Formats: sequence, structure tokens, C-alpha cells
Amino acid sequence: MAGRPALFLDRDGNLIRDHHHTCLVEQIEVIPGVRPALTAALDAGYELFILTNQSGIGRGIFTWDQYHACHARMLELLDLPAPGFRAVMAAPERPDQPSAYRKPSPRFILEMGAAHGLDLSRSWMVGDRRTDWEAGLNAGVRSCAVRSGKEFGPEDEAFARGAGVAIHDDFPSFVRNELGLRTLG
Ligand SMILES: [Mg+2]
Repeated sequence: MAGRPALFLDRDGNLIRDHHHTCLVEQIEVIPGVRPALTAALDAGYELFILTNQSGIGRGIFTWDQYHACHARMLELLDLPAPGFRAVMAAPERPDQPSAYRKPSPRFILEMGAAHGLDLSRSWMVGDRRTDWEAGLNAGVRSCAVRSGKEFGPEDEAFARGAGVAIHDDFPSFVRNELGLRTLG
């Protein structure tokens, strides 16, 4: 029997505003419409995962404690119904450091797929950067690019279109248009 589908979600610039190395609790601002969109996905049977590159930790810009405080604040603001996010992976390495999980690595997606018996053929990776889309493509799941108020550079735009990455204004738009769900609120 096929398992449940999943959404693998970038954090900054997808669920919350991207302040470039977002590390202060006061900076945590959920993008409008994300909470009802996540709730609609949960109601429709999607498992939710977060996969976030946090090189600010490896660069010494902020600490794990700050990261965890920001994560707690985001969960508080989202106030999702159970089970909320099934698992969260934050990769702390700098881009020049070896990393098992830093995007575009597909490893987290593949491991979660096996651990939770997910149906990866109906699963998505959603984010605002090319490394997000590449992680999804590398794992064999569909990828979605979300602008979240910014424009992609021409090279990223061309990559997304050439690779068959879906492009939407934001995460709620993805949920409505690709998953076909209503997002109230
Ligand atoms: Mg991002």
C-alpha cells in the first residue's frame, strides 16, 4: 500500500520572512496565509517536514540556542494542529564544509521517505532558492519555487523552467494551485 505524501519545506523565504541569517526571535514573521495553507495540507493527509540550511551557525553568526529559540517562536506563531511538523532538519555547515544534509543534498528527503513509508511520487520540496529545488530533484520528488515577495535572478528562473520546477508566488499559492486545496483564513 502506498504511503502518505509529504511536503519538504524550506523555512526562510517560504514559511517565514527571510532576514538573511534570521536568528533573532523578534525577526520571526510568518508569511501571510502560511498557517491556513499548512493546516489544509495536514487535513489533506500530507506529512510536513522542514529542511533548512542554516550556515549562520557554521559561520559563527549565531548559535544553536538562537536557532532553537527562533524555531520555538515560529511553532508558537503557527500553532499548527497535531501532528504539526513530523521532523525538522537544520544543516549548520558552511557551503565549503562537508555536509550530509545541507541542500541540495537529497539525503533527508530519502531518509524520511524510508523511515515514514512516504509516497515520494506524490511528495514535494518547496523553497525560494535553487538549492531547494535541486534537493527535491535530486531526491526524485517534485519541486516548487516560491517567490515570497522577491524575484528570481534570470539564471535561477531559467533553471527552474528548464528543470520543470513549478513556480508560484508563495506557499499558500502552491497549496491552492498544485495540491488543489482550499486555504481559508
Ligand atoms: Mg529559503
